[in-house]
Amino acid sequence: MPGFRSAEIIAVGSELLTPHRSDTNSLFLTGRLNDLGIDVRSKAIVGDDRANLAALLRQALARADLVVITGGLGPTNDDVTREAVATALDRPLSENDELLAGLRARFASRGMTMPEINRRQAQVPRGAAPLPNSMGSAPGLWIDMAAGERGRAVVLLPGPPRELQPMFDQSVAPRLARESGGRRWRRRVVKLTGRAESQVDEVAQPVYGPFRDGEIPIDTTILAAPGQIELHLSAAGADLEAVDRALDEGVARLAAALVPHVFSVDGRSLEAVVGDLLQSKDLRIAVAESCTAGLVLARLTEVPGSSSWVVGGVVAYANEVKISALGVAPDLMALHGAVSEPVATAMADGVRVRFSADLGLSITGIAGPAGGSPEKPVGTVVIAIATGRAGSSVRTFRFPGDRRMVRQQATSAALDLVRRTLLASN
Ligand code: ATP
Repeated sequence: MPGFRSAEIIAVGSELLTPHRSDTNSLFLTGRLNDLGIDVRSKAIVGDDRANLAALLRQALARADLVVITGGLGPTNDDVTREAVATALDRPLSENDELLAGLRARFASRGMTMPEINRRQAQVPRGAAPLPNSMGSAPGLWIDMAAGERGRAVVLLPGPPRELQPMFDQSVAPRLARESGGRRWRRRVVKLTGRAESQVDEVAQPVYGPFRDGEIPIDTTILAAPGQIELHLSAAGADLEAVDRALDEGVARLAAALVPHVFSVDGRSLEAVVGDLLQSKDLRIAVAESCTAGLVLARLTEVPGSSSWVVGGVVAYANEVKISALGVAPDLMALHGAVSEPVATAMADGVRVRFSADLGLSITGIAGPAGGSPEKPVGTVVIAIATGRAGSSVRTFRFPGDRRMVRQQATSAALDLVRRTLLASN
């Protein structure tokens, strides 16, 4: 019997169509379904409207093996899910005696009589199996579709995440796992910096394109954020060792094609990679930041244990501080300007010496929106690294985007320059 391969999720609730509430259930469900080897093809949000929900459910069943509906199972009139599902599947509702007894017992255990309105929660479409709710009153429902009907199953879950999550894990996941023959999705992430998304894709596409036709097909997605690109690889199968081998090989091929921009294939962040390199070489770093004003130091110290490799730093925003706290010569600043390679180098040297660190890192730039000039437009950032005996290196970048993006890209570029310097110093 083929297992569940594809799913669609429908979140029910008019409040989810306002700016005040987000549909987080579908994120939880997508993660869990993917782990079970089930591909989520589409998600929808619908208000408390029977006809809309019934139409959406029919469409979803025409496309997917499994449809999961969340919310709208409460006892009030605007809880429309049961009725809409009964209509869409053409399965009349009837009262389930066991559920009714359970609901009455739940109220009685709190010394209350069940309000008549809650009787609605014992109404189930024909052939539906109740799923116990350990955290609330609304039971979930599992409905197997009959041969000749579209789809394989419809699962209804309560809206509140604290009820939905345990119900999924306790009652739905084990059943899906049993019926999916052990098929699972596995994932890998290749992280890069120093390249634009289009540049990465130009090199990566010819490499990952053929992955789809492999014995174990691998899906690849490219995700971009300022200063970082991620390639996500995923593959599914029941033989997890074979899936892992295929993914490892895919990652190795992509990493080889994208050297030296790849900084991590094992989930580590750029700051964690830099931290590990500093620790392995027993080196300590100090940072002088102008336009990033502490962002680099904040990222470096996000890594647990960073006190072993981070000494500290200076936010040298004003020119006076570059002079007084870092010892940058006023003449140098007058001659070249604060955003220049000589000044960045002097800042890196200054912070290294004054903090008795092995490495000094500095950033000075124009994040905008004001302050640019034809020679030094907004987005110009100079980054320097001083290593004492081994000398110093300096680079000028031009980053696109607004102030926030320039600062983020500058932060990643600075950390990446440290990574490359440390790798080159082997
Ligand atoms: P109840 O018996 O508690 O009413 P229900 O199944 O009817 O259960 P809803 O009334 O639809 O659930 O939603 C109850 C609350 O659960 C909502 O106010 C909201 O805070 C939360 N909720 C509902 N759907 C979602 C969702 N998709 N993502 C996150 N939270 C949700």
